[in-house]
Amino acid sequence: MGKLGYNDTPMLRDSPYCVHDDRRPAPTVVTSGSEHGPPSDAVVLFDGTDLSGWQSVKGGDAEWKVVDSYMEVEPKTGDIVSVERFGDVQYHLEFACPAAVKGDSQGRGNSGVFLMGLYEIQVLDGYDNPTYADGITASVYGEYPPLVNACRPPGEWQTYDIFWTAPRFSGVDLVSPAYLTLVHNGVLVHHHIEIMGPTGHRNVYRYEAHPPAGPLKLQDHGDLVRFRNIWARPLKGYDEA
Ligand code: MG
Repeated sequence: MGKLGYNDTPMLRDSPYCVHDDRRPAPTVVTSGSEHGPPSDAVVLFDGTDLSGWQSVKGGDAEWKVVDSYMEVEPKTGDIVSVERFGDVQYHLEFACPAAVKGDSQGRGNSGVFLMGLYEIQVLDGYDNPTYADGITASVYGEYPPLVNACRPPGEWQTYDIFWTAPRFSGVDLVSPAYLTLVHNGVLVHHHIEIMGPTGHRNVYRYEAHPPAGPLKLQDHGDLVRFRNIWARPLKGYDEA
């Protein structure tokens, strides 16, 4: 086979390569997972067997329950965080809110997925459950409602596919904010939105410098929310692959 590309074409902007450059490294081959299973290059954070990849934010072992291939919030044991830390990353996870509806608004199937431990994507039973818009399922809590409500009925498994660009800091200064793209049950609900800062209840927070990598945190909000099939793919730049 002859050469596969070109070296006499125009240079791409801000790139060491020209169009169709035959020197440009081919993308690494990855075998995709079956049905939301982890692809071959994923870091598996929870495969249904144990919580060895997790710790309690209170210190020590994560004390949530592991039952049949999923984990379930054990109320009052606290939030749990992944041992491994990530900066720019793709996450996949699945969650289910209790099938038996109890409570309403923010009191119904509440948990949360905190990127870098600080930036919450809300987990809630948001199916036919009115609440404030920036607190519904798949909202960036207190910042952005999702573009649409793609919730499945309580008890059903739902998916989040998260694409995260970490904020950059120089010393104590913010250089660039975090960006989020989120797909909920196959539906795009945030498209490269600029995160305003750490999320919180009834409050607005400014960015404060933190390390370039942080844990994934899952919230104990006292409701029996389940999680399964959690994996991560640290993201590299196109030419760092
Ligand atoms: Mg929450």
